[in-house]
Amino acid sequence: MISVSQVDYSYAVSKGPSIKALDGLSLDIQEGEFLAVIGKNGSGKSTFAKLLNALYIPDSGTVTVDGLDTKIEENVWKIRQKVGMVFQNPDNQIVATSVEEDVAFGPENLGLSSLEIAQRIESSLKMVGMERLRHRQPHTLSGGQKQRAAIAGVIAMEPKFIVLDEPTAMLDPSGREEIRRTVRFLHDKKGMGIIYITHLMEEAVDADRVVVMDRGKIFCQGSPREVFSRIDMLRQLDLEATPIGILADLLAIEGIAIKGCPLTVEEMVDTLCPLLNLEMSL
Ligand code: ADP
Ligand code: MG
Repeated sequence: MISVSQVDYSYAVSKGPSIKALDGLSLDIQEGEFLAVIGKNGSGKSTFAKLLNALYIPDSGTVTVDGLDTKIEENVWKIRQKVGMVFQNPDNQIVATSVEEDVAFGPENLGLSSLEIAQRIESSLKMVGMERLRHRQPHTLSGGQKQRAAIAGVIAMEPKFIVLDEPTAMLDPSGREEIRRTVRFLHDKKGMGIIYITHLMEEAVDADRVVVMDRGKIFCQGSPREVFSRIDMLRQLDLEATPIGILADLLAIEGIAIKGCPLTVEEMVDTLCPLLNLEMSL
């Protein structure tokens, strides 16, 4: 598991005081867990992400991955194999001239046999649904396809955890849906641990647990239903409610009480239908 304990992190600024991005943050992430991290711009989400695979080292406190302290230089290589990272802009993550070569890049650096490398490319491309696009030049792909290629490159390292920092921020709605489906598959079917950072509330509803960050701290956490039912708290933190949450709120204003905090369109339909039938039979 990943254990973050009492972590402070500040950025030095040439003029003026340093900026405290994380302030005594503690959080454990279990193997196979799907954790969503939400919070407004500047709340410390990306800084948190970069601590998880030793891109950043805490000023104080500790981060360990399967007991390996990120502070210790000899651990970094092992930690980076356990914790893969996917960032916002797929263009910055693609290094090769074909999808397949790009996915091969990581495993080739692990010193694996060519048979093992070929198998890993095959299975990673399959997991993200890119096997038929393997010979394509990355610049000819859609945003969603590029981001899936980047995810394949990370999976090919066979990490235990994948950290995705706003992976859909630059994608259109269909690209977002591709990434959502891919992430769900990796978690549900492959048992991968997912740390999914987003400012889109509706992307966090798939998670096992949602952590809400504010000013470098954890403001609150819970199941998606627990977190997203607190519409006033979300507003107070400048976070949008989910579209379904907003709808429930509007219906409540009109005197239609929605019970049980539906999170998805399907759940909302299931909640509303009995109410509508009731009205029609009156
Ligand atoms: P988020 O990802 O939630 O938007 P960040 O972790 O990027 O938050 O930023 C947390 C805080 O640290 C913000 O106040 C931000 O301005 C500051 N910050 C982030 N990166 C840098 C940097 N490279 N130099 C100085 N300040 C930074
Ligand atoms: Mg960020």
